Amino acid sequence: MSEFDFDLFVIGAGSGGVRASRIAAGLGARVAIAEDRYLGGTCVNVGCVPKKLFVYGSHFAEDFEDARGYGWNVGERSFDWPTLRDNKTNEIERLNGIYRNMLKGAGVELLEGRARIKGANTVEVDGRQYRCERILIATGGWPFVPEFPGSEHVISSNEIFYLDEFPGQALVVGGGYIAVEFAGILAGLGADTRLLYRGELFLRGFDQEVREVLREEMGAKENLQLCFNTEIVSIEKRDDGRFIAQLNNGESVITDMILYATGRVPHTHDLGLENVKVDLGSKGAIKVDDHFQTSEPSIYAVGDVIDRMQLTPVALAEGMALARHLFDGQPINMDYENIATAVFSQPNIGTVGLSEEQAIERCGKVRVYTSRFRHMKHTLSGRQEKTFMKLVVDDASDRVVGCHMVGADAGEILQGIGIALKAGATKAMFDATIGIHPTAAEEFVTMREVARTVSKD
Ligand code: FAD
Ligand code: NDP
Repeated sequence: MSEFDFDLFVIGAGSGGVRASRIAAGLGARVAIAEDRYLGGTCVNVGCVPKKLFVYGSHFAEDFEDARGYGWNVGERSFDWPTLRDNKTNEIERLNGIYRNMLKGAGVELLEGRARIKGANTVEVDGRQYRCERILIATGGWPFVPEFPGSEHVISSNEIFYLDEFPGQALVVGGGYIAVEFAGILAGLGADTRLLYRGELFLRGFDQEVREVLREEMGAKENLQLCFNTEIVSIEKRDDGRFIAQLNNGESVITDMILYATGRVPHTHDLGLENVKVDLGSKGAIKVDDHFQTSEPSIYAVGDVIDRMQLTPVALAEGMALARHLFDGQPINMDYENIATAVFSQPNIGTVGLSEEQAIERCGKVRVYTSRFRHMKHTLSGRQEKTFMKLVVDDASDRVVGCHMVGADAGEILQGIGIALKAGATKAMFDATIGIHPTAAEEFVTMREVARTVSKD
């Protein structure tokens, strides 16, 4: 008889935790998973999935307009928030059920409650203690909202999915993925929306030209206003339930809702870390080595809580790699280079590899190819939106080191290009690839003119 109740105790049934527990159980390990909020974690409940459903929902505003040029008469239009919200919630509940069955089918024991670590090999859930050979912390992240006078009146991405009423006017604060995506969603669904970002230009770290193109495209939307170098100083709630936000430029704005999307912090609160020797980094993320092992040898961590890249496919890959390593002896070869990602802004950004600025730093000399054109769909729809595509090539090796797009379906298109970059494709290989016609994506294999060659010095 083992001295342990479980070979692996996973805390958090989100992307990383569920994947690790299923793989480990499949490899014969005795596995438990604890979850105190929602099966599937952030991505399924208050992240990727409901967000993408809202993006689809909000895009209809433009789709109805675009339909006219194709001969469709679209009648009276109106948007009913409770229908979208509740249909979304029903879908999420269906997914929660699928997760429950998946865990059961894999033989993972699900414990629904808050898990607290009591010692290097002990976890407590609902007053009962479990002895575990190894513990995996996969507790994800939590929205960060700065404190200032009136900050108690703002909401975060956790709440926006369940609003009782859809706002007529909205302020969105932040310049990262969530702020940019929700500014588009709110505006598309009909709210007069202002995006406030403290810096010069949103999406710091993305390719500069991509950021500028998105500013131009989003800035052209009717009920969306982009305000850079702008912050909220204080918020007051009025008797009628609306809010007055005082801005740093002296302006006061009356609004129905204020969404703060100012980053996420590792979720380690009330986890019992004081009972073990798990080191944290400066931003509170759990420190792990190349094997996802913390400074307490029996305790591991994956996903947003280690804050390497806060993306679902990264958490999934980390969870899978760890389980295969622990229970099948496989080496861990997580590669964080060339991970394709999309911002579901309107229009989308798709990106993989280095920005032009990063590539110049790393390669010394790069060739840049760009194309900006009106999507064929918009020749008849009349929409002025332009698609932007960009390839960044290391001049010495001819390898494509960065690929970027702003335009419809950029996320879908960049996934395939991500494989090409992973495989080390050169510009000559892109050129030798025959396009699919007529698509926007074919532009990636037909860009021949060098827009510029840039050297570090
Ligand atoms: P999580 O999925 O957060 O799971 C952690 C789980 O642990 C949670 O269910 C939590 O309740 C549970 N938990 C925490 N503490 C305890 C405890 N003590 N006991 C029991 N249970 C506990 N990524 C993308 O790749 N694409 C997207 O389009 C995308 N969109 C996003 C949109 C939004 C609005 C947000 C907020 C995030 C988005 N992300 C997206 C990021 C993605 O959701 C995360 O990277 C991913 O969910 C991280 O997975 P995880 O397993 O690390 O943590
Ligand atoms: P991000 O880290 O992407 O962006 C945070 C933003 O908030 C930055 O613009 C930052 O500004 C700003 N900010 C930070 N602190 C303050 C402050 N005190 N006052 C004003 N502004 C502030 O976080 P998000 O919340 O947007 O998203 C969290 C993560 O979730 C993302 O990084 C991403 O990994 C993941 N995600 C992925 C999505 C996808 O794949 N499509 C979609 C949504 C989320 P500055 O740049 O100046 O520091």
